[in-house]
Amino acid sequence: MSAGPGRRPLVAGNWKMHKTIGEAEAFIQALLPRVSAGAHAEVAICPPFLALPAMVDSARGSRVQVYAQNMHQEQAGAFTGEVSPAMLVEAGAHGVVLGHSERREMFGESDKALALKLPAALAAGLVPVLCVGETEQEREAGETERKLRRQVQEDLAQVETERLGEVVIAYEPIWAIGTGQVATVEEAQEAIAFIRALVADRSGEEAERARVLYGGSVKAENAAELLAEPDVDGALVGGASLDPESFAAIVEAAG
Ligand code: PEP
Repeated sequence: MSAGPGRRPLVAGNWKMHKTIGEAEAFIQALLPRVSAGAHAEVAICPPFLALPAMVDSARGSRVQVYAQNMHQEQAGAFTGEVSPAMLVEAGAHGVVLGHSERREMFGESDKALALKLPAALAAGLVPVLCVGETEQEREAGETERKLRRQVQEDLAQVETERLGEVVIAYEPIWAIGTGQVATVEEAQEAIAFIRALVADRSGEEAERARVLYGGSVKAENAAELLAEPDVDGALVGGASLDPESFAAIVEAAG
């Protein structure tokens, strides 16, 4: 594993709408003995909201951190069905995934809303994991960089420059999510280096601090070669994070 100098790799498992509280408990009990305590990489699971407190309790004192999958930007208010930063902090969440492509595509998550959510997460003390990525059509049309530039610039626009390094960005090409069609190591490295350069347009120092992950059909079998790329600082894992054994193998590959 070779995250850049000073950057600690992060492997995060996004469970999406999978696992009841009971199933989540069984998972964490199976995972904990499989992830060695002294290792370097950070480990996070992102369960559904209802399982957050139970996962925080069960993971306490271990290497595993617990992140949410979404968040509203306001602290409270008439926003039926939403969850605030303060609620996530109270539940013990360490961070939050923002702008996953499923939320953008199916639930109308906009760059405008994300521009408010990113600073709100940081203000609450949550580590934001901002997901960005292009569709297959956009890649084929040569529009990958344009799409990434728009998402990174708009979504981070209201994050103070000196806090940019605290944001985790996950490059998740949409054509690779849940499809088994993983990006090549060259594609992942190239897009991630481009994302880091976009952050560097605002601050070179913060760009060196910011972790940029790859996500999209990461499995135990392909994790090591992806994570060996110099700009790939970890992985956001969907399907393979649902099984403790395969998730632990990916964590192991991150060092
Ligand atoms: C994801 O949903 O963030 C993801 C990367 O999914 P998968 O690993 O299943 O492609």
